[in-house]
Amino acid sequence: MRIPIQSVTPDIGHADVCGWVHEVRDLGGLAFFLIRDRTGILQVTIPKKKVPEAVLAAIKRVSRESVVRVTGTVKVMEKAPGGRELVPDTFEIVNLAETPLPLDVSEKVGVELDTRLDARFLDVRRPRVAAVFHIRSAAMHVMNDYFHKKGFIGITTPKIVAAATEGGTELFPIAYFDKEAFLNQSPQLYKQMMMAAGFEKVYEIGPIFRAEEHNTTKHLNEATSIDIEVSYADHLEVMRILEDLIVKTYEYVNATCSDHLANIECTNFTVPKAPFARLPYTEAIEIAAKKIAEPIKFGDDISAAAEHVIGDEMGAHYFIVDWPSSIRPYYAMPYEDDPTICKAFDLMHPRMELSSGAQRVHQHNLLVQQIAKKGLNPESFEFYLKPFRYGMPPHAGWGLGADRLIMTMLGLSNVREAVLFPRDMHRLVP
Ligand code: ATP
Ligand code: MG
Repeated sequence: MRIPIQSVTPDIGHADVCGWVHEVRDLGGLAFFLIRDRTGILQVTIPKKKVPEAVLAAIKRVSRESVVRVTGTVKVMEKAPGGRELVPDTFEIVNLAETPLPLDVSEKVGVELDTRLDARFLDVRRPRVAAVFHIRSAAMHVMNDYFHKKGFIGITTPKIVAAATEGGTELFPIAYFDKEAFLNQSPQLYKQMMMAAGFEKVYEIGPIFRAEEHNTTKHLNEATSIDIEVSYADHLEVMRILEDLIVKTYEYVNATCSDHLANIECTNFTVPKAPFARLPYTEAIEIAAKKIAEPIKFGDDISAAAEHVIGDEMGAHYFIVDWPSSIRPYYAMPYEDDPTICKAFDLMHPRMELSSGAQRVHQHNLLVQQIAKKGLNPESFEFYLKPFRYGMPPHAGWGLGADRLIMTMLGLSNVREAVLFPRDMHRLVP
């Protein structure tokens, strides 16, 4: 239907446009319609005495957010949005919208996030909301491009799996014929297996599922993870890739999405500078201990409150490095000279964690020991352990949360704003 119909930002002259009725103003002898599509807004000016009878009949019947098709002449009009107006010859109602609307698309009324998510299709008609997803699309594009240019192979690993990545309880069980199965919490084990398969550099952008009963502004039960794994690399090497990727992604968004950034009124968008600071775990907890009441000692997880005070102190993206082995997964490589700490890191935005990664254990014996030390049964990891017996290269990698990356990049207050149809404890529809 769009061809040969034009977008609502046509040139001067005859135009044939389709879009939604954004706003109506009736001043008696003169009516103004604002027609909207993804390119912008066009004013349709209707001098009631000068337009055909059919146009008058249609504008009497039409409601906001109906789809209409309007033909007529476009002229310069300084005061109108986009500096032009259309006086119609025809005004056709293509599909009438019911009233009242579940959501005010013209944004004059503040709306709760829940109401917005319930009517997400209408919410996303709002330019400032759509802008988030244009930017997300651009960010995903440049990241895919980055990996291809650097020689990474894109892979797709199963989301229906038989075993937990880390043996946690945070898994969604699913009915899989007569077997026990789960939704995968991370592609970790599979991307490591691809190192044994000789792919050397792999990446995957895909869903991860966490059955965590969180009720926070940064946790989802279905998230999008950007994962890499690289052979013959250590943790330092993949940290450099990570910071370079983050900077390049910000730069691309900055260069290509200025209209969308303006739409969101994103005032604190700044391209971060590499290299990011490297903060050892012990120094991180010292900063936290000075500023928060709850005691924190070596081997404790860094709480959300601690994350905030450390983030305030750091003021920009930074890495926390040299984590206690006791609080990192069995596949993180311990330091040879001090196995109480390991070659794991987190990439932090001042507001929250964005990524976790590590150099991995590639020695079969050490891996079996580490699995057992975590109280897990190595036998249930046989499919994963097998490749480590037949020539596994040393390797390192990370997983980066795409939703949190967009949230922090755009200063959104809730991760759900960065996701079209978020999944949380209370939301499974739409
Ligand atoms: P957190 O401690 O903040 O809950 P995590 O350490 O459990 O995160 P990882 O398993 O390290 O998360 O996953 C790597 C990255 O994937 C995280 O840094 C985050 O960006 C993203 N991620 C993980 N779980 C979630 C989730 N439930 N919702 C949104 N993003 C997530
Ligand atoms: Mg983590």
